[in-house]
Amino acid sequence: MRRVNKLLFAGGIVNSFGGVLVAFAPTGCWYGYCWNQEAYNVPLGIGIACLGLVMLVASLRKGQRDYGEMYICSRCETALPFAEVPDEQCPHCHIPMEPLKGFYTRHPELKKD
Ligand SMILES: [Zn+2]
Repeated sequence: MRRVNKLLFAGGIVNSFGGVLVAFAPTGCWYGYCWNQEAYNVPLGIGIACLGLVMLVASLRKGQRDYGEMYICSRCETALPFAEVPDEQCPHCHIPMEPLKGFYTRHPELKKD
């Protein structure tokens, strides 16, 4: 998941810059790579830049949530991955769940052994 986000992020940046480049510099050479897109540089450039921005936004939004992160209910102590509790509510007790990481440090009284 994180690897995909990084690829999406890198692709987004490349597409954003590439799109702007095509829109404002329809012909040119850069490090041996030459292009000539005068006929349709503006729509193409804007399209590529938009695609890049969409990729950037998607990578950042997904990056905010790790869907494999475990959440635990402080009442019944059911632990579930975030993907199964998108609203962070325990399916049994309907109370907000907490991230499993550090849970027993915050609630030492629930520690069994
Ligand atoms: Zn519960």
